[in-house]
Amino acid sequence: MHFTGTVYRNPYWPTWPLLEITQGCTHNQCKFCTMYKQVPFRMSPMEWIEEDLKELAQTDPEARTIQLLSANPLALTYDRLAPILEMINRYLPKMEYIYVAGRVTDVRNKTVEELKKLKELGMREISLGVESGDDWTLDRIHKG
Ligand code: SF4
Repeated sequence: MHFTGTVYRNPYWPTWPLLEITQGCTHNQCKFCTMYKQVPFRMSPMEWIEEDLKELAQTDPEARTIQLLSANPLALTYDRLAPILEMINRYLPKMEYIYVAGRVTDVRNKTVEELKKLKELGMREISLGVESGDDWTLDRIHKG
């Protein structure tokens, strides 16, 4: 499996297999966060993703859930994300629940139709880091 830097998993779902489809965080400026300081954002090469899915198909063929890494893979456009979800379903045909984290801006860069199609492809949960609704606080912590 390809993993870059420190791996952070959703603590509420500790048994999910992990699949790295991006590295780092597109924003990487929050004052309180050091998680991805050493890891520039980029999409994983499709060859890596496919290699990892082949490995998961061998080691965890019954997998029904999966967590996509890293900080905000939802930043990928619909056109990049949809083929990855299709590939997950091809290699792990029992897949029911794909978990992904993102920023509000990552939701905003997709249409409602695109989000519905991603849901049909198994993307069932989006985790958003919404630290505050207060503009002054968001500015102070460089939340963007
Ligand atoms: S958006 Fe999230 S991962 Fe990125 S710097 Fe801020 S808190 Fe860290």
